[in-house]
Amino acid sequence: MEYQKILDTIKAETLNKTSTGKVATYIPELAKIDPNKLGMHLYCINSGHYGFGDENERFSIQSISKVFSLTLAMSVLNDELFDRVDVEPSGDPFNSLIQLEYEHGIPRNPLINAGALVIADVLVSILENPKQKFLEFIHKITGNTSITINPKVFESEKKYSYRNASLLNLMKSFGNIKNDIETILDLYIYQCSVEMSCKELATAFMIYANSGKTLSDDVQIISSRKVKRINAIMQTCGFYDEAGEFSFRVGLPGKSGVGGGIAAIHPGYYAVTAWSPPLNPKGNSELGMYALERLTTLTGFSIF
Ligand code: GLN
Repeated sequence: MEYQKILDTIKAETLNKTSTGKVATYIPELAKIDPNKLGMHLYCINSGHYGFGDENERFSIQSISKVFSLTLAMSVLNDELFDRVDVEPSGDPFNSLIQLEYEHGIPRNPLINAGALVIADVLVSILENPKQKFLEFIHKITGNTSITINPKVFESEKKYSYRNASLLNLMKSFGNIKNDIETILDLYIYQCSVEMSCKELATAFMIYANSGKTLSDDVQIISSRKVKRINAIMQTCGFYDEAGEFSFRVGLPGKSGVGGGIAAIHPGYYAVTAWSPPLNPKGNSELGMYALERLTTLTGFSIF
């Protein structure tokens, strides 16, 4: 199949669409991004790399980092991790506090803010220097040690983290947060402020398509049993209260971030990423979702 041709078609179709989405502004530094950026990268196990547009420009990965922090925590711990965070779709916005009250401080899943904050708490408990270990993990799965955070985005989110602080405080009142709130927030905001390009993110996500192994050097990063679980969580929870819609339209496990990125995988076949900053009302990249829908439609190749 001529993947580059399909991607060229998707580029033309996507550029033809007028987005009604809005760039995230609640982290002021993210509001400065050019809304017209558009990139896509497809990394196939059998045939390598394809892409278009701004595929090599780095952007803020934001909540896509939640998949990496979950992987890092699961690589150290076993099922006891899931005593503190559930694996059910939330059906609520990513930063919602509502369910925590009647779920007694146990977040619905690790890919909403509450769940990712519990994972950050776990990483603070089990790792010596969690911020450094988090970056090293990304370096290991991409083979690229130049990937780092954007300090301006980091500082910008730090100033406006009242909601994440309230999630942490509420969970701490139920006994589900063990460390100091400032330390956990610092790690969480750090992981969100990492910048990667579509190509780098597709390379990182290859471990989820390739049974837990890097494709370039065949290193087993995490067991295939655990990858199966991470993919299941991405499928059911990767897009907050739009996880059903993403499954319905695209049909791949994946994860979005408010920087406008989406990373998704087809187990055994490929990792794919798209970046377009304007977000739909659910906080997912509007054109990114469209481009991925076109990919699985034009290739006939989704998990369903
Ligand atoms: N850093 C962001 C926040 O916590 C991440 C949210 C997202 O990408 N959905 O609000």
